[in-house]
Order: sequence, then structure tokens, then C-alpha cells
Amino acid sequence: MMTNTNATSVLAKILFTGDVCVNGPYNYVGDGDVGKWVATLNAARKLDAKIVCTGHGPRSIGTVLDDQHAFFKGLREQVGALMADRAPEEAKAQIESIRATLKGNPQIARFVGERGAGWDPFPAQVAKVYEELTGKKLAALMHEPQLARLCSRPLPRSCVTS
Ligand SMILES: [Zn+2]
Repeated sequence: MMTNTNATSVLAKILFTGDVCVNGPYNYVGDGDVGKWVATLNAARKLDAKIVCTGHGPRSIGTVLDDQHAFFKGLREQVGALMADRAPEEAKAQIESIRATLKGNPQIARFVGERGAGWDPFPAQVAKVYEELTGKKLAALMHEPQLARLCSRPLPRSCVTS
């Protein structure tokens, strides 16, 4: 009886987030709203999960939700401070400076894509936040098709429970 109770409570502390939370440079923001996303992450943080199986990247613990939240918060603050008052062409010139600032924060550096890598969702993430804050679009600099393909893959093996 005691064993069953313990097993139930342990299971309840495992959270499968889907793409609400990832663990690495994998946030596909194409059809989301980053503002609402942050609110959803806040709700997930209150669940007090011990093990978190994210949509992409290695299995983690509850703090990955805080880290993912901090990435979006930092991204929105930076885009708001450096880009929101600028027209798209001028705003675009700020992307690498914002990347460097976020990469300099150890809590969130792993969420920031590498410039020039075949896989770099960062410009698309910046563009999405800029669009949410200003209602204006940045010119196409997307790698969205790649990201959409990644998101159709199954959960990482480490998170599959039998
Ligand atoms: Zn995905």
C-alpha cells in the first residue's frame, strides 16, 4: 500500500512539457505567442516537477523550466530595449549584439543558437518577438522549415517510460 502511494507521487512529479519547454537551442516560435508562452511556463513551474522531459534536448530537472523562462524573458527585454524603437532594417543590425548578451548569461546560453551553424533558430526567435512588440515584420531570415521538421520527431528516448 505504502509502495503504491509512493509510486503515484513520484510519477506525479514527472512533467512532459512538449515544446512548451526545450533543453537547448530548439525553440520553434513559428506558430506560438512568446508572451503567452511565458505565462504557460509560469504555470508549469508551479507544478514542482522533479523530472522534466522537454520537447527537445536531454531530460532535465525542475530548474529547466526556470531557465527556459529566463531565456524568453531575456529575449523580450533585449528586443524591447534595442529593437522596438527601430524600423526593421535598422533593428536587424542589433541581432548579433542581443545574441552576445544572452550567450553571456550562463543560465540561458544553451538556448541561444550558434551564428553560422546549420541550425540557428535565434534570428527567427528575435523576429517573432520584434513582431509581437511592434506589429512589424523583420525581413525573412528564417530557418523555420528546419525547426518545423525537428518538431515532428518523437520524444527523446531518455524520456520514454514503459
Ligand atoms: Zn518540437
